[in-house]
Amino acid sequence: MYYTPGSLKAKLCVEGRQLLWDICAKHNILFRKLGKIIVATKEEELNQLEEIKKKGEANGVEGLEIIGKDKIRELEPNVSAIVALYSPITGVIDSHSIMKYFYKKAKENGVMFCFNSEVTGIKKEDEEYKIYCRDRSLTGPSLEIESCIVINSAGLSADKIAAMAGIDIDSAGYRLHYLKGEYFSYSRTDRSSTCPLVNGLVYPTPQKGNKALGIHTLIDTGGSIKFGPNAYPVDEIDYNVVAEHRFAFHESIAKYLPSVQLEDLSPDQSGIRPKLNMKDGKEPDFIIQEDFPGFINLIGIESPGLTSAPAIARHILTHFDT
Ligand SMILES: Cc1cc2nc3c(=O)[nH]c(=O)nc-3n(C[C@H](O)[C@H](O)[C@H](O)COP(=O)(O)OP(=O)(O)OC[C@H]3O[C@@H](n4cnc5c(N)ncnc54)[C@H](O)[C@@H]3O)c2cc1C
Repeated sequence: MYYTPGSLKAKLCVEGRQLLWDICAKHNILFRKLGKIIVATKEEELNQLEEIKKKGEANGVEGLEIIGKDKIRELEPNVSAIVALYSPITGVIDSHSIMKYFYKKAKENGVMFCFNSEVTGIKKEDEEYKIYCRDRSLTGPSLEIESCIVINSAGLSADKIAAMAGIDIDSAGYRLHYLKGEYFSYSRTDRSSTCPLVNGLVYPTPQKGNKALGIHTLIDTGGSIKFGPNAYPVDEIDYNVVAEHRFAFHESIAKYLPSVQLEDLSPDQSGIRPKLNMKDGKEPDFIIQEDFPGFINLIGIESPGLTSAPAIARHILTHFDT
């Protein structure tokens, strides 16, 4: 619902969400349609919620509703907000189980995996690409793979792989930056209340100019509550969670969940987004592009990349001659 109508992010997120729900239901993968509210705590944020609702509806997101204080209290008694945008169909999945499912399915379909193998070079030879790999542990042999189709989905390194194939990543607009996002887990230190902190997902209204959706409150499939992710640029890949960031987390969360105390937060996990530069002041879209015959680049596959994953695969199958 956040993404520009007509963009790949919008289209593939909506399509991928339905495909994921179907896969999860069919293959016994844990998912919970918890519902989500995006809350406004200030009058000025109201217009933005209306805008998000309009975008969502244009993108085919069903069931969006602006709700007032009574309905907010009914859904989320601990949340303090003047108005909210409610999405009943949003939920969470067990991402590790879905990865295991894709892995098993791919193996059944004859895919060969070469774990611990780092692509270090790519050369075009006649109709084929030669991919040079080295063993990351430096104990095994190096590997050469020949293929007439290459799908570059290397996440944080997708720009480097594109450069290996001879693309000028600056003029193509493929250069990626790292944007880190940390999570803190919640455990209530004051045991006097028995009511769960939240029943579904609670997001703040995104702040204009921010590169992420804002620190939200989520429940994982195991029922644990987390806050995150924040968003700040880093130069190196380092997944440590900086404990001092809990002060800023607490300040953000307390705006809509005033009962949360600083002591309730513990460093949890982090991730790094492959971020493209803004284009004409706008958030960048996914890039899915065949740059040379049979060489398809997937660049800037940040959120909602996981939700979109099965739809991205389908998009490649239908748009390119693979
Ligand atoms: C904090 C955070 C929160 C997020 N929240 C959501 C969310 O709520 N919903 C959602 O849909 N998405 C979310 N995402 C985005 C989602 O996680 C990503 O879009 C998705 O994981 C991208 O998948 P990928 O396969 O493109 O890349 P990756 O998962 O990064 O996989 C790339 C793979 O390529 C390998 N690789 C890289 N370089 C080389 C090389 N030279 N040789 C060989 N292999 C290489 C890597 O080892 C890795 O295995 C979030 C991301 C972050 C960081």
